[in-house]
Amino acid sequence: MKDCIFCKIMKAEIPAKKIYEDDVVIAILDINPVVEGHVLIIPKEHFDNFYSIPDSILLHVYDVARKLSKEIVSKLNKTGITLQINQGYTLVNHFHMHLLPDYETPKLEKTVDEIYEILK
Ligand code: 5GP
Ligand code: ZN
Repeated sequence: MKDCIFCKIMKAEIPAKKIYEDDVVIAILDINPVVEGHVLIIPKEHFDNFYSIPDSILLHVYDVARKLSKEIVSKLNKTGITLQINQGYTLVNHFHMHLLPDYETPKLEKTVDEIYEILK
């Protein structure tokens, strides 16, 4: 898709540090990592978001995520990894999954009781 950063990366119009590639996806290092080893798994074909990606490609993304997660955790000597898909507030509107080794969740501002009062 025109003007899509990830489509430009697919066409090598923008450089990227690629750590994995197959017929369906690539995996690259995030240009602005929030943790060491922050990786993005990106389908080669453009899908706008989580709601529009076909099941078979989403399943493949998860297969690759599992394979790469083991390698990343092992090679970077991390404890674990978080898989993250953003929906509705993405910077890049080309579906992708984040792999975040040893990701620490942010400090919580509301208690469980306060959240319950809001959501019940
Ligand atoms: P999201 O859309 O899920 O919020 O995140 C998009 C991610 O893509 C961000 O973490 C951002 O740092 C990353 N990103 C944006 N532009 C580029 C780029 O040109 N190259 C790479 N490697 N990552 C990018
Ligand atoms: Zn795209």
